[in-house]
Amino acid sequence: MSAGFVLALAALRVVILGTGTPNADPERSGPSVAVVAGNRAYLVDCGPGVVRRAAAAAARHGIAAMQADRLGIVFITHLHSDHTVGYPDMIFTPWTIGRRVPLEVYGPKGLKAMTQHLLQAYRVDIETRTNADGNQHDFPQGAHVNAHEIKPGVVYQDENVTVTAFATKHAMESYGYRFDTPDRSIVISGDTNPVQATIDMCRSCDVLIHEVDTPAWLATRPERFQKFAAKYHTTTKELAELATQAKPRLLILYHYAGLSNEELLHDMMARYTGHFVIGRDLDVY
Ligand SMILES: [Zn+2]
Ligand SMILES: [Zn+2]
Repeated sequence: MSAGFVLALAALRVVILGTGTPNADPERSGPSVAVVAGNRAYLVDCGPGVVRRAAAAAARHGIAAMQADRLGIVFITHLHSDHTVGYPDMIFTPWTIGRRVPLEVYGPKGLKAMTQHLLQAYRVDIETRTNADGNQHDFPQGAHVNAHEIKPGVVYQDENVTVTAFATKHAMESYGYRFDTPDRSIVISGDTNPVQATIDMCRSCDVLIHEVDTPAWLATRPERFQKFAAKYHTTTKELAELATQAKPRLLILYHYAGLSNEELLHDMMARYTGHFVIGRDLDVY
């Protein structure tokens, strides 16, 4: 194995697992992004379909760290269901196929209670799988979860990555995350109104992954949602202004809504001169 190949393996990659919204679009799984570094996958959010999307990424791109039984760590931006419906999937699916270590989860206040309630809801499953006849009898700890409720600042560090959480502005306590490795820096917004913290965290970062809606699409929504979005989401106009200040080398749109992808593309191109792409499920950057 050449040194170049080893370096390539160690380099940070971003895998877009789901670009979707609460809409049950079969082409777009629920919001989830994986940062892969040092042969480990660090997930941000657990939208519906997350484990199967990770398995698809493992198969399509040959990323062993994304194999379902190796998923062991996730950072949650906020507790809205479209970002957490896949959380029980992350707890139980990897365990039933072999994960032997607890799942490590980081996120806002309320995460511990959600975790306890999910484990309680699946009590019959856990008891059956770990009884004398159970297939998971020898590794019950694979269904354990260490839930960490966080504050802004460095929330996680290991030999591969440093993860910094920053407060965002959404309808509930919410965070964005910055991932740093020696070679790259990645910032993920989660759901938020534009905030200065995203600009400060990015500051010429390599990749900024940000949610966005187009004004034309918003105009088709009920008035209540338009008011909600004005306070808690980000329009193309606002994102163009934010990214112009944040100056990411690449801006990736995710958790987006427009009249169509073409409308979103043209609307963003008209407002933003930097390099950007509309993320698609299973893209790798
Ligand atoms: Zn939300
Ligand atoms: Zn959302």
